[in-house]
Amino acid sequence: MAAIWKCPECGKGARAPQRLRRNDVRRYCLGCSKTTGLLVERETAAAKRRQVAGREKAAKTRARKARDRERERVRSEVVISTDGPVNVVRQAEKWHDRLPALAGWGSSRPDVILRHRSDGSWSGRAGRCRVVLSIGRGLETATIYTLMLHELAHTVAEDHHGKGWRRIYARAVRQAFPGITLERTPKGSKYEVDDQVESAIRDHLNGGGGKVRWEVKESA
Ligand SMILES: [Zn+2]
Ligand SMILES: [Zn+2]
Repeated sequence: MAAIWKCPECGKGARAPQRLRRNDVRRYCLGCSKTTGLLVERETAAAKRRQVAGREKAAKTRARKARDRERERVRSEVVISTDGPVNVVRQAEKWHDRLPALAGWGSSRPDVILRHRSDGSWSGRAGRCRVVLSIGRGLETATIYTLMLHELAHTVAEDHHGKGWRRIYARAVRQAFPGITLERTPKGSKYEVDDQVESAIRDHLNGGGGKVRWEVKESA
């Protein structure tokens, strides 16, 4: 089938079959090629349409990939508590940046890594530059916040579960939830300290503290 092969530079056309070999001279505008010093290829309307369709498809693919990445990013930061989605990573970063109790050493912000668990368990570990929070589904928000503040306190405390850490932990909790009263240096085992903190946060969220405002909605 014949087609018009048109030069994109000068607009001049030539009639030639729709399908031409790669090196067929009718594919190229010799005048423009000579002027520019590079081979200028003519195109047919059908090829042009294909090209436009290809570009649109590529744009769609890019948009889909960006959406997937965004969904993955949200998924990698958010856990679903009994109250709804909690953006664990962003909240932990915010606490680190804003709570005076956690600004020890004028330190740069630790990397906060969330690992999802399929069961209802949770655990965490923390060093100066890294906090890893492993959190299952369907936990109470108070439990998640307790774990986060426990681990964040480790990023600035000089001892492990001793007096220094307890003091920082309790201060961070009081600063994160104004209105909560906790001992300056809570006593008991670390589990007992966590229990005190957890029930204080729970009461705060259910009562005087009002409803938590969620930072990020999980995308559908
Ligand atoms: Zn031309
Ligand atoms: Zn600990």
